[in-house]
Amino acid sequence: MVYDVTLIPGDGIGPEVTEAAKRALEATGVIFHWDLAYAGASVQDKFGTPLPDLVFESIRKNKVALKGPVTTPVGSGFRSVNVALRKGLDLYACLRPCKTYSGAPTLYKDVDIVVVRENTEDLYSGIEFEEGTPEARRLIELILETKEEAVRTDSGFSIKSISEANSRRIVKFAFEYARAHQRKKVTAVHKANIMKFSDGLFLAVAREVAREYPDIEFEDRLVDNMTMQLAKRPQQFDVIVAPNLYGDIISDLCAGLVGGLGLAPGANLGDNMAVFEPTHGSAPKYAGQNKVNPMAVMLSGVMLLHHLNETKAADRLEKAIAEVIAEGKSVTYDMKLNMADAQAVGTSQVVDAVIEKLEESSHS
Ligand code: NAD
Repeated sequence: MVYDVTLIPGDGIGPEVTEAAKRALEATGVIFHWDLAYAGASVQDKFGTPLPDLVFESIRKNKVALKGPVTTPVGSGFRSVNVALRKGLDLYACLRPCKTYSGAPTLYKDVDIVVVRENTEDLYSGIEFEEGTPEARRLIELILETKEEAVRTDSGFSIKSISEANSRRIVKFAFEYARAHQRKKVTAVHKANIMKFSDGLFLAVAREVAREYPDIEFEDRLVDNMTMQLAKRPQQFDVIVAPNLYGDIISDLCAGLVGGLGLAPGANLGDNMAVFEPTHGSAPKYAGQNKVNPMAVMLSGVMLLHHLNETKAADRLEKAIAEVIAEGKSVTYDMKLNMADAQAVGTSQVVDAVIEKLEESSHS
């Protein structure tokens, strides 16, 4: 069987890490037809947008994509391609597993956490009012009128909206994932003591949904406490479910617990579409240097293989990556205790080593 998969190289380090993952995926023996789709700053001039319709069309057709990171300019320029893609395709669940592989550069052992991040709303909804605009002034007036609260007139606004329906579907997703993967506990993360109507709603819904899953333990944590507990004793957590912003921050924190962003894969999932991409960004300072770790995208490729029910190939690829990490020879700078270690190899050498392991396993 040939799988049609959309391949979005992205920008910055995206093209080199996606090329690495493509090579590793092909070396499993599974046959792919890659449908290339370009997004990001490099296509802005040609298409007048960093996210051409062709990208949406390709993913809607193939239902599965492998995506490299795309740079989002800070403050000005276009809005996030990543947010637009997730919202446009209603890829509402962001799944980010973080587990320790033997030999990874980390202080922790036996971490095996899956972060489930809500992907479509919260502070990422893109509803913002710039300081000094008529809309911002109207909002200030409305707040004064309805809340009798004076907001400074030189304020800008980013709206945090959390809905009952989207909270329900993401918490249900987390519990269904836990059940399907023999996980024991779901922890909901929030700041409901302060944001009573947004995080408060998320928590109330989470508690309600939890009652439908008596076989799975449920608990909740305030996000500040959660970060401390993750740093202190991460092994106590199993599946974590969080609104968009906390999910983003916590998944980077969890990546740090297991050895860094170079080891943190991810998937954006909707009801019938899936875009696999690493947690990390485009790291522009390393672009084109054959320097960064391709393992996060390769591990996203493992998730993609599982999604296609190519379980054997997924297990072989993960085992090959794990062996390369354990040996510690063909790994990039970020996998070394001393990041300046001259023994670190480049992106393409890591893939060569993983492919060698795959070839060995096919002969054994
Ligand atoms: P980043 O993830 O690009 O980099 C953070 C740190 O991790 C840097 O020190 C970087 O060198 C290191 N790093 C990242 N990936 C690595 C890898 N594979 N191997 C080794 N080291 C790695 O985050 P940032 O610097 O905050 O963001 C850069 C750009 O990426 C921004 O424009 C941001 O908006 C964008 N971004 C995109 C996505 C996405 O496309 N899904 C996700 C996050 C950030």
